[in-house]
Amino acid sequence: MSFPPSAPPIEDVKKVLCVFAHPDDVDFGSAATVARWVAEGIEVAYVLVTRGDAGGFDNTPRGEMPGLREAEQRAAAAALGVTQVEFLEGYFDGKVTPSLELRRDLVAAIRRHRPDRILTSSPLRRWERISGPSHPDHLAVGEALTCAVYPDARNEFALPELLAAGLEPWVVREIWYSGGPNPDHAVDATDYFDRKLAALNAHASQTRHMEDLEGMLRGWMGTTAQAAGMPEGQVAEAYTIIRTE
Ligand SMILES: [Zn+2]
Repeated sequence: MSFPPSAPPIEDVKKVLCVFAHPDDVDFGSAATVARWVAEGIEVAYVLVTRGDAGGFDNTPRGEMPGLREAEQRAAAAALGVTQVEFLEGYFDGKVTPSLELRRDLVAAIRRHRPDRILTSSPLRRWERISGPSHPDHLAVGEALTCAVYPDARNEFALPELLAAGLEPWVVREIWYSGGPNPDHAVDATDYFDRKLAALNAHASQTRHMEDLEGMLRGWMGTTAQAAGMPEGQVAEAYTIIRTE
């Protein structure tokens, strides 16, 4: 199972909603792209499904982890110029499923924010790499989000309680999937690499144990750039773009 070739990106995007399972997901995959969108004048908001309560690599008391990671995500967002950061309630790291409850909460977020574009994690597992992008929470959020975009967010007869609360139907025009198999739309991240590094350093509980975060990022983003035909020395982030109008 794979994605079809990416559609060309829509050009008149005013608002992007980024929906991910854990603090740091948007930054590892897409911080430079987000910084680029902000620089282009696009409004960007985040919805995080969990506070990453199962994350971390040291002896930080577990009860402190959700609040710590929420603060880290807000700082990382600020490093990219993003100020709208929301966390859903009632979902926990490692226990996310593409449930009807999650779909409803994502429909509510879509109808509240009314984005032209959504950036989220791929619902497709990469069998060559079971870790990272293929974390079950990432797949679950990608699946629930896709189901929220179609049919629920645009269907006035779905979830009447949301309409009663004033949340009108909304058609999201495209989804950018991160972390999926064979991404074929590369964004030049070269001018925004430093911002990405700053955002990832803000996730100290997740990155401070890494010996050479910058070198690792340059290596893997350089490979992405070269696969997209960009010159040596450039770095990139890659996606699959699906039209959802
Ligand atoms: Zn994650």
